[in-house]
Amino acid sequence: MSQNFLPQDLPSHLQHYIGGQFVDSIDGETFDVLNPVTNEAYIQASSGKVADVDAAVAAAKDAFENGPWPGMLPRERSRVLHKIADLIESREDQLAQMECFDTGLPIKQALGQARRAAENFRFFADLIVAQHDDAYKVPGRQVNYVNRKPKGVAGLITPWNTPFMLESWKLAPAIATGNTVVLKPAEFTPLSASLWPGIFEEAGLPAGVFNMVHGYGEEGFAGDSLVKHPDVPLISFTGESGTGKLIFANAAPYLKGLSMELGGKSPAVVFADADLDTAIDATIFGVFSLNGERCTAGSRILVQRDIYDEFVERYAAQADRVKVGLPHDPTTEVGAIVHPEHFDKVMSYVELGKTEARLVAGGGRPEEFPEGNFVRPTVFADVAPDARIFQEEIFGPVVAITPFDTDAEALELANNTKYGLAAYIWTNDLKRAHNFAQDVEAGMVWLNSNNVRDLRTPFGGVKASGLGHEGGYRSIDFYTDQQAVHINLGEVHN
Ligand code: NAD
Repeated sequence: MSQNFLPQDLPSHLQHYIGGQFVDSIDGETFDVLNPVTNEAYIQASSGKVADVDAAVAAAKDAFENGPWPGMLPRERSRVLHKIADLIESREDQLAQMECFDTGLPIKQALGQARRAAENFRFFADLIVAQHDDAYKVPGRQVNYVNRKPKGVAGLITPWNTPFMLESWKLAPAIATGNTVVLKPAEFTPLSASLWPGIFEEAGLPAGVFNMVHGYGEEGFAGDSLVKHPDVPLISFTGESGTGKLIFANAAPYLKGLSMELGGKSPAVVFADADLDTAIDATIFGVFSLNGERCTAGSRILVQRDIYDEFVERYAAQADRVKVGLPHDPTTEVGAIVHPEHFDKVMSYVELGKTEARLVAGGGRPEEFPEGNFVRPTVFADVAPDARIFQEEIFGPVVAITPFDTDAEALELANNTKYGLAAYIWTNDLKRAHNFAQDVEAGMVWLNSNNVRDLRTPFGGVKASGLGHEGGYRSIDFYTDQQAVHINLGEVHN
């Protein structure tokens, strides 16, 4: 299969989108976007700075204060959101190709993510028409009710893993609730975001509701400028925990609303009574799908000692069979790591792991790919809890396996990192499973289940994995203010 695959309808370069117009950066600067298979720059994107963010926020503020969107009835906004979902579905092949080309994700998995993006819009389109708020008859002739209002200009900052889907996870609730937005896509993977303006225009979203500034995150660049902009009252951020802390500090002087979906090092705990075939399949998928670049990856597998040797042997053999290949090959299961910088980070952990634990599968680059960001699914066994590959998020196809004896030891190991995003538990003992779920420090727990998600449930982490939850009504709460209105129908008493 040729490496020279190009998605359909590539734009000539990637521009910001402000007030309904594609524009270059005010200073004309651009940055290179690389293809992870060749590491060649295949397109340039506009590099947003303070002035570009100022222009985007001004357009969003004007659309919020003077445009029709915030005042439209929920069912009118809902219709536009359903149209957006239709348009995403009608372009899913193009979208998947772009995502696969830009991120290195296997094409089949990129297609699944495109469908999830459409689903996010459908979900919030339905939720806003079902939304109801409280009203109270209080003693005497008085009534209180909740007046829910959009907050204004929402700043949305997203990472490079499954970029379009994660952008949709913020865009859909933000605009569904009547806000206007400025999106700052990740600088490694800005390609698929170039589809948003066409989709929004065709769906009838008024100009100025959606604005986008490409560029880096650091001080003086797009991300930091959005966080520090006084006219942006809320930031929804997904990315690394370290970046989250910095954004928290930078947003503090403005007392902004913050939602933070951060990193993870999630445990998958396999008890001796689990259905082993299912647990092995699921834990293989849990860490190697999406190239291991998945925030909820079960990247620490804790296995009860009675089945430990068998598990490690079978797991390593199955990891060796996971097909690493060109991202656009439909049989590929692990594609190319997003960017050479991240590839170097993943490879440094692979080398470190060889000094810290027992390598049982993978351990480097596949022979058939001497170039590009390809890593063999890598499995380390006998990993000690103080090893760095046990504690630190690698965000690639690398997994650490550790034995345990008792339930208490499993719990202690599961909770023994700074993170607390997800936990997976494999056992047929109902009581044990529920007790474990009660005590494990994780925002989301899957019992005999793999990452299946209902959009009504809260999504988010504890400890260093995040702040606040989105999903269902929690997203509606985050993107709106709830004003309490008190009405006196009788006499005024002082
Ligand atoms: P990152 O933190 O490096 O960057 C994320 C975004 O923040 C990018 O758009 C970047 O330009 C921007 N940014 C960087 N510095 C900034 C600053 N000072 N101010 C404002 N914006 C800034 O993260 P990444 O490497 O793109 O993504 C991978 C990370 O994201 C992993 O840690 C992963 O676990 C996490 N993640 C979490 C979830 C979740 O839901 N919890 C989902 C996906 C990814």
